[in-house]
Amino acid sequence: MSNNQALFDVGCRSCSRLSRFLKETHNRYPDYHSRPVPAFGVNKPNLLVVGLAPGLHGANASGRPFTGDHAGIILYEMLFKHGFSNKPISSNLNDGLKLKNCRITNAVKCVPPENKPTGDEINTCNRYLVEELKAINKNAVILCLGLISHKAVIKALALKQSDYPFKHGMTHNLDDGRQIVDSYHCSRYNTNTKRLTEDMFRDIFIQVKTLLSL
Ligand code: URA
Repeated sequence: MSNNQALFDVGCRSCSRLSRFLKETHNRYPDYHSRPVPAFGVNKPNLLVVGLAPGLHGANASGRPFTGDHAGIILYEMLFKHGFSNKPISSNLNDGLKLKNCRITNAVKCVPPENKPTGDEINTCNRYLVEELKAINKNAVILCLGLISHKAVIKALALKQSDYPFKHGMTHNLDDGRQIVDSYHCSRYNTNTKRLTEDMFRDIFIQVKTLLSL
C-alpha cells in the first residue's frame, strides 16, 4: 500500500506473516473472505466500536467484523437492545443488518494466526485506525473492546499511553470532546470465565448511551 492516508485497503499486504496466513487460509477455505476485513456501519458514527482482529472462521470468513465469531453474538445483541441496529443477529453480508449511529472496526484488519497479532502488526495497521478515528463525529464515543484495542486507539490518537490506562468501565474524556469507554473484550474466553458477564456488558452500553445523551 503506498497511500498512507487510506481509510481502508482490501488489497493491503503490508504484514508478511498476515499476508501468508491469508493466502494459506484462502487455499484451505476458498469460500472465505480471507482479506482485510472492512469496518461495518454508518459513516460519521457517534459510536465507534473497536475490536481486536477478525476471527479465522468468523469475520475472516464472512467479511464483516464480529460476524460468525462467538464474540459477535453478545455484541450484536447488545447493539440491538440499545438502539444501535435494526436486528440482534449478524449472520452474513446480505442479512439486511443495519447499524444506527454506530460503526464497528478492528485494531488489526487481517486475521492473525491463533488470534494473536504481533506488536509490529498492530502498529503497521494503526494507520487505518488513525483515519477511521478522524472520520467519527466530534462528540463520539469510542468503545474499546480489550486492552489491545484500547492501546491501538490511544496510539492512533497520538496520546500518551500512561495518561490513559485501560480499565474496564472507565471513561476517558479527550480534550477534543470525544470519549473513550473501556470494556473487557466480549470474547468466548472472557464470557465463559465470567470476566465479562452479560450484566457487565449491558452496563457498558448504558454508560455509552448516557455519554451520548441517548
Ligand atoms: N473479535 C474481534 O475482536 N473482532 C472481530 O471482528 C471478531 C472477533
